Amino acid sequence: MSNILIQFCYLLAAVLFILGLRGLTSAKTAARGNALAALGMLVAVVAVLLDQDVVDFPTVLAGIALGSALGAVLALRIQMTAMPQMVAVLNGLGGAASALVASTEIVNAVAGTGPVPEGVVPLAVALSVLVGSLTLTGSLVAFAKLQELVGGAAVVYPLQRTTNALMGAAAIAVSVLFIANPLDPALLLGLVALALLLGVLLVIPIGGADMPVVISLLNSYSGIAACATGFVLDNSALVISGALVGASGLILTKIMCDAMNRSLVNVLFGGFGAKPSAGGTEVGVETRTAIGYTPEDAAMIFSNARSVIIVPGYGMAVAQAQHVVREFSEVLREKGIRVQFAIHPVAGRMPGHMNVLLAEANVPYEELVEMDDINPQFVETDVALVIGANDVVNPAAREDTASPIYGMPILDVDRSQHVFVLKRSMNPGFAGIQNELFFNDNTMMIFGDAKATVLKLVEAVRSY
Ligand code: NDP
Repeated sequence: MSNILIQFCYLLAAVLFILGLRGLTSAKTAARGNALAALGMLVAVVAVLLDQDVVDFPTVLAGIALGSALGAVLALRIQMTAMPQMVAVLNGLGGAASALVASTEIVNAVAGTGPVPEGVVPLAVALSVLVGSLTLTGSLVAFAKLQELVGGAAVVYPLQRTTNALMGAAAIAVSVLFIANPLDPALLLGLVALALLLGVLLVIPIGGADMPVVISLLNSYSGIAACATGFVLDNSALVISGALVGASGLILTKIMCDAMNRSLVNVLFGGFGAKPSAGGTEVGVETRTAIGYTPEDAAMIFSNARSVIIVPGYGMAVAQAQHVVREFSEVLREKGIRVQFAIHPVAGRMPGHMNVLLAEANVPYEELVEMDDINPQFVETDVALVIGANDVVNPAAREDTASPIYGMPILDVDRSQHVFVLKRSMNPGFAGIQNELFFNDNTMMIFGDAKATVLKLVEAVRSY
């Protein structure tokens, strides 16, 4: 295949990636955007395979077979609620792949089977190895936290920032030495070791409600590593797609930071999400009890309401209650009640989690209202129905300066006339902190699995 044709394919792939990203900016065009981006990837893969410079076809086919088999098993076995962990692993593997491919250039040069790296290549290898390796270990730590293999809270210790700053400086120093002496394997190995350690050190101080920021940031890092590897291989498709992932990941990180009302520096170095300090409402010392109500008790209040705001959270995803929730919203509407859904930007366990679930259940997009638009409406709303949400409706974020989530914008459900909270127990949410909302005079808890409870609500309100 001629070089011009290959470059044209790469350009076409890049245009399709950009159109795909544009499609993903709105729920209505997201599916088409996804298809366009997938087509772009197909064009890029075919172009690479037809290019003379790649490894032989049996090796490529073996890689495709192994990767597809692993991917298929993972895709079939992974629960919808475990998607964030899977995204974390995928980011990590992307970073590792970039670092390995870039390192191969050095290995080949040292063995005398490839050209001696020159020009921008040593710098690009250093960047790819540094960012790719720290993305791998950082993502594994994020995976372990999200999978609850280790505690989800931030791990903080004395002189942590100094240690991290020293490690970062050491990694940069070794990178500079490596760029000056790219054929010294000891420097490459040293850089890999430092970067792997740095990935762990950078992610352990981040925890609790800050995890969405970490995931989008690691996603961005994996793009930066891929972009650097594109420079190593002189492959424009990889440079462009890596830059797109890096930039869109950074934009998502900014959106997540704004959603938490925090700066990126504060997230990275603040130890946010650590265990509550004195004065915070610590789980386990709670002596009050919240009174449980039944769906039948709730039916009267719902039937007499004029407006209801439904607030979905992670528990709705666990219970897979989205379809019955849509059915309940229709039952309410048939009674002439105004129903809206309030979407908090970090509800669930991945950006857009609630939008995806409700779209799957065919809830019209117009009924989903963003936090800033819905918050002023709670005060004149008859009933707020909280379904498996906890941290995103915790008034401590507004009022308790000692709370680890203080400052995070929340959905102001407590300001509506009545609040029903559907959850299984008094257990805390992801941030691990107690929720005062459950003890408010206008709050009524209905304990049980969200899907089973909403089903009972459907029956009770229908027959009221
Ligand atoms: P939370 O994790 O705060 O709370 C979820 C609640 O759902 C729990 O209190 C749990 O209580 C309840 N629950 C679980 N299973 C069920 C079930 N089957 N039926 C009924 N209730 C159930 O969720 P939120 O959505 O309020 O907040 C999201 C949190 O996750 C935030 O802290 C956010 O920062 C964090 N996060 C978000 C990410 C994102 O990208 N969106 C990524 C990573 C973390 P019980 O056990 O008593 O039932």
